[in-house]
Amino acid sequence: MVFCGAGLSAESGIPTFRAASDHALWSRYDPEELASIEGFTRNPDRVRGWYAWRRGLVAEAMPNDAHHALAGWHEALLVTQNVDDLQERAGAPDERILHLHGSIVHDRCHDGCGWVGPVESEAGGGRSECPRCGGVARPAVVWFGETLPQAVWTRACRACSETDLLLVVGTSGVVQPAAMLVEMAADGGAYVVNVNPEPTPLDALADASIHAPAAGVLPALLPD
Ligand code: NAD
Ligand code: ZN
Repeated sequence: MVFCGAGLSAESGIPTFRAASDHALWSRYDPEELASIEGFTRNPDRVRGWYAWRRGLVAEAMPNDAHHALAGWHEALLVTQNVDDLQERAGAPDERILHLHGSIVHDRCHDGCGWVGPVESEAGGGRSECPRCGGVARPAVVWFGETLPQAVWTRACRACSETDLLLVVGTSGVVQPAAMLVEMAADGGAYVVNVNPEPTPLDALADASIHAPAAGVLPALLPD
């Protein structure tokens, strides 16, 4: 199985959070303030504006060679922290992808009626009102302080403890549950390979670390 983070999409031009905060437009804001329930409650329009900008980046981006290599590894379950749809657009079927942090290309009801729908507006600002119950609509992502979708989390944990090989790609390992999933796999006896240009705490759990960008490494590492 594969566990990925924002670094997988970095070479497609989608910044990780740290890089995103250098962007002039948003440099005054902390992503944890924008990607949190408190930030949304305080200023929903500002949060929607930030998501409109991020949705624009995702819409313009193309899957890179790492997404294509992962899509071609047909046996692998892809557990991702990414909210973009580049892995789907690289051709990996939905049933092989678990989005731990939801999807930026969808909105959902914030008031709990269960409505989820694709973002339709050209600008990507998304809906402010739920079309089903009239409540508040919001990006269908998991924010800081929110719990992960239970069914997805349960499947990811089971897969991690059962797999004999875990490929970790582009995640810093400082945000939970990243470290926990890698630990589960290592404890279950999996061989763990970590791909990241920078050293991370996950190197200590890995049997092999490859310090290089994902798009260069994955096509050579995985079966065609
Ligand atoms: P993160 O904590 O997963 O860190 C990104 C990691 O990617 C870093 O360790 C960095 O060294 C590595 N990296 C950078 N370029 C790489 C490359 N070319 N190949 C391989 N690795 C590379 O991610 P974050 O940016 O701190 O974000 C935290 C959370 O924010 C994520 O879990 C995610 O849910 C969300 N996020 C998602 C996206 C997306 O969907 N594309 C983008 C930004 C943030
Ligand atoms: Zn609703």
